[in-house]
Amino acid sequence: MPGAPPMLQIQNYINGEFVPPVAGRYLDNIDPALGQVYGQIPDSDATDIARAVEAAEAAFPAWRAMPAEKRGRLLVRVADLIERNLERLAQAESRDNGKPVTLARTVDIPRAASNFAFFGTGIGHFASESHFQEGVAVNYTVRHPLGVVGCISPWNLPLYLFTWKIAPALAAGNCVVAKPSEITPATAYLLGELCQEAGLPAGVLNIVHGTGPRAGQAIVEHPRIKAISFTGGTKTGEHIARTAGPMFKKLSLELGGKNPNLVFADCDLDAAVRTSVQSSFANQGQICLCGSRILIERPIYEQFKQAFLERVAGLTVGDPLAETTRQGALVSEAHLEKVQSYIALAQSEGGRLLAGGRRVQPEGRCAGGYFLEPTVFEGLAPDCRTNREEIFGPVVTLTPFDTEAEALQWANGTDYGLSATIWTRDLDRAHRVAHQVHAGVVWINTWLLRDLRTPFGGMKNSGVGREGGLEALRFFTEPQNICVKL
Ligand code: NDP
Repeated sequence: MPGAPPMLQIQNYINGEFVPPVAGRYLDNIDPALGQVYGQIPDSDATDIARAVEAAEAAFPAWRAMPAEKRGRLLVRVADLIERNLERLAQAESRDNGKPVTLARTVDIPRAASNFAFFGTGIGHFASESHFQEGVAVNYTVRHPLGVVGCISPWNLPLYLFTWKIAPALAAGNCVVAKPSEITPATAYLLGELCQEAGLPAGVLNIVHGTGPRAGQAIVEHPRIKAISFTGGTKTGEHIARTAGPMFKKLSLELGGKNPNLVFADCDLDAAVRTSVQSSFANQGQICLCGSRILIERPIYEQFKQAFLERVAGLTVGDPLAETTRQGALVSEAHLEKVQSYIALAQSEGGRLLAGGRRVQPEGRCAGGYFLEPTVFEGLAPDCRTNREEIFGPVVTLTPFDTEAEALQWANGTDYGLSATIWTRDLDRAHRVAHQVHAGVVWINTWLLRDLRTPFGGMKNSGVGREGGLEALRFFTEPQNICVKL
């Protein structure tokens, strides 16, 4: 097509070089805002993973022996390069994922840089314990890197979640074989370029592209990969645990969510409405932390609803590259269809559609893209499927409640336990409810505010283990206790 940009041809990054998949197979990469193929990515298999593991094993002795400060400086250099390439990465992320470029520019890419900077400097503060028994012995703990570890990440926050795993793994002295989602490979590919430029030694980080069942599964099954850090769906997590568990691999599983957003009558209504619109629809509702069940205390139900719907009506759906767009495309046609099936389910379960519900076909270049209106339902029972299953799209439900106990019962009434948000001015209630809600992350009067030092992860089917700060460095190391008799 005259004037069309060249197709993006992605390669694997193994042993410091960009290489084609051994079997020579490729998959199409689709721009979800156009609904068109715009590039190709390797359809890697177990042979490519085996090569990546060999490269990582060869690099490991020197990488683990490198003083932590020097390793950290290399990671900080990668952070600097991400910042210097912010616009290029944001454009690539937006095109690959369908998210508004403004979001990629202000959240995804800066946070990816922060991940490298945080763990690059954090490793210098990582200390281990010693236990002194008066007159008897001293025990001290050494934390060894594990060796070669696997990092597998999803498509919703591609570079942000990819680096969230890779940075602590590398900082702790491991070598990594990583696979981004096949649906959003572009920024992971560019990260390989930046690592090369930063002077990361060959083989320390290997990025292999391909599908979950083929390339991902080969990582999980590889006998010499010591640990798997996985973020993705609960079903996939279950499958990975079943494979890796009997191999005694260390596992960190960050899985799905169906997060409650509890709005009490004494809250700052304006702030609650404003932030709830964000927590419902940011990234088209495709953030594991989105609050898709909004529970509202009855006295302010109507007022909240009206203000919420007014703001939702102002969300511009359209071309992700336009500066004014607030809602981009969903990540794929299959995902759009899945979310649409949940809209049909909500209607069949008796939900009243208050806003949205339809596919959007913007005029111009994005006419074939996977756009959906932000969708709001009310009138659904708290225990219906729409209110229990993860939709992972721009669909939320509003439900009134009468008592704190009722709100808590409904908030806790799903198999998930990732995050919760509480809106109230009553400090006692805020803490009381926070302590009783089954969620690994609780926000009070805010949402998505992150401090990278805090433990991050889910309860119940939302995951096993915690990432973030020292938790991540502990996960990626093996403690060894050494006892010296006095
Ligand atoms: P998936 O579980 O489908 O995929 C996640 C990653 O696992 C992808 O890279 C995928 O590859 C890969 N994969 C799939 N099958 C296997 C397998 N058998 N072995 C190894 N790897 C495999 O999740 P999505 O990408 O659809 O992401 C959405 C999900 O992620 C939602 O449930 C969301 O809640 C969750 N999530 C959780 C977060 C958290 O922190 N708790 C944060 C963000 C998202 P490929 O895509 O190439 O097939």
